[in-house]
Amino acid sequence: MDTRYGKEGTTSGIVYLVGAGPGDPGLITVKGLRKVQSADVLVYDYLAAGEIVGQASNHAELIYVGKKGARHTLEQAQINTLLIQKAREGKTIVRLKGGDPYVFGRGGEEAQDLRAAGVPFEIVPGVTSAVAAPAYAGIPVTHRDHASMVTFVTGHEDPTKATSSVDWSYLAACPGTLVFLMGVKNLPTISNSLIQHGKAPDLPAALVRWGTTPRQVSLFSTLGDIPMDAVKKGIKAPAVLVVGSVAALHTELGWFEQKPLFGKRILVTRGREQSRKMAEFITEQGGDPILFPTIEIVAPNDFGPVDEAIKHASTYDWIIFTSVNGVERFFARLFELNADIRSLWGPKIGAIGPITAQTLTKLGLKVDLLAKQFIAEGVLDALSDDAIRGKRFLIPRAETAREALPEGLKARGGEAHVVSVYRTVAPERTNVAHIVDLLTHKAVDAITFTSSSTVTHFKDMLKGENLGKLLDGVRLASIGPITSETLRKQGLPVDIEAEEYTVPGLLAALRKFYSQPQC
Ligand code: SAH
Repeated sequence: MDTRYGKEGTTSGIVYLVGAGPGDPGLITVKGLRKVQSADVLVYDYLAAGEIVGQASNHAELIYVGKKGARHTLEQAQINTLLIQKAREGKTIVRLKGGDPYVFGRGGEEAQDLRAAGVPFEIVPGVTSAVAAPAYAGIPVTHRDHASMVTFVTGHEDPTKATSSVDWSYLAACPGTLVFLMGVKNLPTISNSLIQHGKAPDLPAALVRWGTTPRQVSLFSTLGDIPMDAVKKGIKAPAVLVVGSVAALHTELGWFEQKPLFGKRILVTRGREQSRKMAEFITEQGGDPILFPTIEIVAPNDFGPVDEAIKHASTYDWIIFTSVNGVERFFARLFELNADIRSLWGPKIGAIGPITAQTLTKLGLKVDLLAKQFIAEGVLDALSDDAIRGKRFLIPRAETAREALPEGLKARGGEAHVVSVYRTVAPERTNVAHIVDLLTHKAVDAITFTSSSTVTHFKDMLKGENLGKLLDGVRLASIGPITSETLRKQGLPVDIEAEEYTVPGLLAALRKFYSQPQC
């Protein structure tokens, strides 16, 4: 814990005012992320990305202080009191603020209160939405041919107020770009005031809502028309308004909204631990991954057969791994038994799928056989009858799985010994209610299934719901023919199927699907 001496000589904690970026969780600084990870207390509001909040350590206290329009969860003064109180308990506090803490975020006031209370603080600047939201909409706020200055303005003030601190005649005379934050409600008055004071009504103007997130909406118009256009397009807060000729550059420089999965909400049904990479890819392609783990990988009911197999590993001719989980669980057990990699001396090693093979290679094992087709049949096709007859095969895999491989081997005179190294079960804690809510509101575009068990568990978890209605309009994407077959058996349609039966193959299929013109 980072403790220092406060004003009165008492031990005090410290408050970090950390800029969280405007929405894309990747835009927090490295320093900011480190502070979040080491905080005892994390105080955040509604603009903070859930993914960043999720980086807090398990022992950290998470305090949501809200603030969405008029619905304040805690008043500003209460937030400041809370920060002071927690600091006086000697804690390290991170006050996460959207964008940059000192750009219209009341960060300055919070810091003043902390100083007055003798509580040490530090500022970790962030990427402000005033720059990032336009950038994601294809607008550079400065440009040598367009604007050599940029002004950030609060649009929250009522310009008709006698006490307004916004100087409209000055702003209207400003040659550079104007960026208004908190200006959606006052859009008509902002537009009128600027035009009245001399700005051209046909000056390009843009609004960017939820900038840098998969929910981003941008509107390109002119200063005169933008209030009406915003109403037509239903643009509400949070949004930034950009006024100036740079706003027209989006036609040339737009990039984010053109990403293949932009704005698509994609449900990921595989286990939580295996979902991370998939979620990263979806985000990278502009989509919004929603994690709905339908399976959890746990130990088999009985390790006896696995332990025996490990003990006698060198008596086999082949060990065939059918999945990454199979590899990971088999070796975890091998190491738990205090055995080492040399106990696998002798047998050849086969893998179904390139990712399974890679996992083996990382362990320093050479893969002798990689099936061309990434399903059990691929192994059978790759081996000649001579290579199977009279040979002993060890298959470490899930407790329940297809019998195609062992049966196929036996049918051709081989000896197949299946040992279960893990079981897939339904997760104990789930967010079913939330998912049903999203599906009911048609807020899901596609659902990915990476194995037959994700399909059957998904169906079990939504038992009692009207699946036909919930899934109407939702695209179901499958990793390969076996999973597709299970979907069809469960009465569910397959809209997208991977050409290569791997997770990257599934993601490529999604990308391809959404790159085609949608009807
Ligand atoms: N400190 C923040 C601004 C806080 S004021 C920053 O530096 O970005 C809140 C206003 O910021 C909102 O009303 C909106 O105008 C703007 N804003 C914040 N996040 C935004 C986003 N993702 N897209 C567009 N505008 C955003």
